[in-house]
Amino acid sequence: MEAVMNFQRPLFTLDNLELVTVKVGKDATPCVLHKALLCAASKFFENAFNGNFKEAHEREVKLEEVDFKTFAMFMNWLYYSTFSFGDECFPKDVKNKAASTLAFNKRFNYILDLSVFADRYDCPPLHTAALCAWQEAEISMLKSDATIETETIHRVFNELPNTSSLRQEFVKWAATSLVNKGLDNYPASCVVEMFKVLQEAFLDKKGVNDWPVYGRYRNLWVESLCEHHGHVSEQEAAECSVRKRAPYLGETERRLRALDEVFRSTIRSNQG
Ligand SMILES: [Zn+2]
Repeated sequence: MEAVMNFQRPLFTLDNLELVTVKVGKDATPCVLHKALLCAASKFFENAFNGNFKEAHEREVKLEEVDFKTFAMFMNWLYYSTFSFGDECFPKDVKNKAASTLAFNKRFNYILDLSVFADRYDCPPLHTAALCAWQEAEISMLKSDATIETETIHRVFNELPNTSSLRQEFVKWAATSLVNKGLDNYPASCVVEMFKVLQEAFLDKKGVNDWPVYGRYRNLWVESLCEHHGHVSEQEAAECSVRKRAPYLGETERRLRALDEVFRSTIRSNQG
């Protein structure tokens, strides 16, 4: 994960040790942080603490509408460049459908909390880190019997703007991996976007017969993983753990072949 989850954190020196307080949630839980680190990650905090606002003089910002759990995950990421989802977000038995569905959806929802936080407080590196965590979860989920819950899917569409790379990644993944679960669980706007993705895959200039359909599917999703979270250098892309894990999954292959069959028979019946 490290390669893509890192951003340029400032080194501490004698000149940038100033501390500020963020009061989080309805209880205004005080969280004391290094201003330099906080401001490097987020334009919102940069403006609040380095501008001419009263927050800058008082060295204090109130975030009433933020859940403490979300802010704690943000702090962990800020200082340790990792999230703290907890064991309950990682299924012990991936073949236990109910338990693994619960665990994965917990993780997806925490990631969504972080992504919404990143958008609201103008923190692009956190958005990227959340996206990578989401992709990791997608990839692990392929090896389990878990499904993504309708409520989780609706959160993606209700709470993230359509410019969100996490939302775009979800559409691509849903279109290429989950379409066989039925479309009833998806909001209408998601279905429209999924069909656009599939259109690209099937109705491009080459036609459907010159490439195995599952191959296109796999390419479509796997090849686009890095496009969504981005890399600062070729070397970082080469070390990307999300990409490294994705192409070798036998399970992905199996599902894609099954999907291939479904689509081929649909195409055949439409032609006949
Ligand atoms: Zn990557």
